[in-house]
Amino acid sequence: MIYPTLTLPLQRGGNHTIFSIGGNSMNIVMVASEAVPFAKTGGLADVVGTLSRALAGAKESVTLILPYYRKRMDAKKFGIGPVSRKPLEISVPFAGARIKGTVLGATLKPNVKVYFIDQPAFFDRDELYQTVSGDYPDNAERFIFFSRAAIETMDALDIKPDVVHAHDWQAAMVPVYLKTLYRQNKRFTKTRTLLTIHNLGYQGLFPKEDMPLTGLSWDYFTFDKLEFWGKVGFLKGGIAFADAISTVSKRYAEEILGEEQGLGLSTALSYRKNVLSGILNGIDYDEWSPETDTLVPANFSPKDMSGKETCKSALRKYFKLKANGDSPIIGIVGRLTVQKGLDIFAAALPEIMKRKVQFAILGTGEQKYHDLLTSACGDYPGRIGLKLAFDNQLAHQIEAGSDFFLMPSHYEPCGLNQMISLKYGTIPIVRATGGLDDSIDDFNAKKSLGNGFKFAEYTPEALIAAIDRALAAWKDPKQMKAVIRNAMNSDFSWKRSAKEYVELYKKMMKR
Ligand code: ADP
Repeated sequence: MIYPTLTLPLQRGGNHTIFSIGGNSMNIVMVASEAVPFAKTGGLADVVGTLSRALAGAKESVTLILPYYRKRMDAKKFGIGPVSRKPLEISVPFAGARIKGTVLGATLKPNVKVYFIDQPAFFDRDELYQTVSGDYPDNAERFIFFSRAAIETMDALDIKPDVVHAHDWQAAMVPVYLKTLYRQNKRFTKTRTLLTIHNLGYQGLFPKEDMPLTGLSWDYFTFDKLEFWGKVGFLKGGIAFADAISTVSKRYAEEILGEEQGLGLSTALSYRKNVLSGILNGIDYDEWSPETDTLVPANFSPKDMSGKETCKSALRKYFKLKANGDSPIIGIVGRLTVQKGLDIFAAALPEIMKRKVQFAILGTGEQKYHDLLTSACGDYPGRIGLKLAFDNQLAHQIEAGSDFFLMPSHYEPCGLNQMISLKYGTIPIVRATGGLDDSIDDFNAKKSLGNGFKFAEYTPEALIAAIDRALAAWKDPKQMKAVIRNAMNSDFSWKRSAKEYVELYKKMMKR
């Protein structure tokens, strides 16, 4: 199919030509299964959406390709529409047949081109990947289709990428396909592929019987390619075929080479060690800044912290926590899972509650932690606020109104919440793993250095000891002032991360 000289009437009143790649800018195509503001289940969405904008802000030409989850995406609000007067249809080879898809478009302001793969049978659903009863049984089909559709879209829109940047298992087959089924396609001769692993815990593993769906021969079902302990591993395939691999912190890039954190892929990763690197994520300070946040009851800044008190009172009121002047509130926002350290937190909770502390907890996750926390609320009336939901506004209010923020993660590839907390002067108490280790420096009271409290051992005792150090600082206004100042002065902007990605892309293109 040929789609000559398309212009995109995407944003109302806008009229963008697709390829105006000026000067030395690179043509980067991001392929991912979620991105803010269009669809989000976790940190991946924050990273993809914000990194795309930051790269475009750094004068790179950025295109983002996503599935069109109709249930989650408000076409009107986001200006999602056809990319040309005639709907752009692609015919995607799939397991010996072809499945049609429609390409829709939008602009992520100010200048990221976004294309959505619309195939209702795969994506017009309530959730992105799973429901309470588990993963969608056709996830292999869905993301094989999406990965091939992304490549077909580049072809249909005549996009010649310098770098295709694929994220996580859902897009990990893109580098595999570019090196195999699309190797002869001249469009991609100079294209380099980067696979970013946001969380090795999600590998896209499917039964052996799904191998034919990939369109690849059984020759690729070997331990050095897609085979993973008798299953088909999409992430494993991406690790084997991508030109370079990155993770979301330097520490995590080291950790996954070890057996414990490597989760079965440490050997495959070690084999690609020379092209493996870590780049810490950043935070979108347009969304997460106490000076300008419109979702919190009062704004504040390092110069005038009085608004934080208002936020704290409002948070107490919301959760019906007892008014208790000098009791700190410890916030928790995130997935309530073992990865996030919920097992050591649960074991430590009775001991922690002997101290003068209150909790504000927001999250969803494993049922056993829902039950455990719900019963803890009853055990400590007026001291634990709990909402089992996904609630962005409340996430902002907890970040703004808490004094400390707890992340006792078992592993944490990068973590965004600790960086958000820093900006709001809400002091992180974290386990020294992955990005938590890279972004938090343990507070040294004597030297007034450090922006949080950190513990190494994955045990309830170590967690309690870190909370005790935080509470000791809480009792000394001078120490608290110092740690809050250090926290609020920490810079985790996307500008810094985007610069590192640009350097990595350039390095890849030289290879
Ligand atoms: P993850 O491992 O889930 O990606 P991150 O810390 O990297 O964890 O990012 C989580 C992001 O999702 C943060 O922006 C956080 O505020 C948000 N988030 C997680 N759970 C919830 C929730 N229950 N309600 C609102 N926001 C949430």
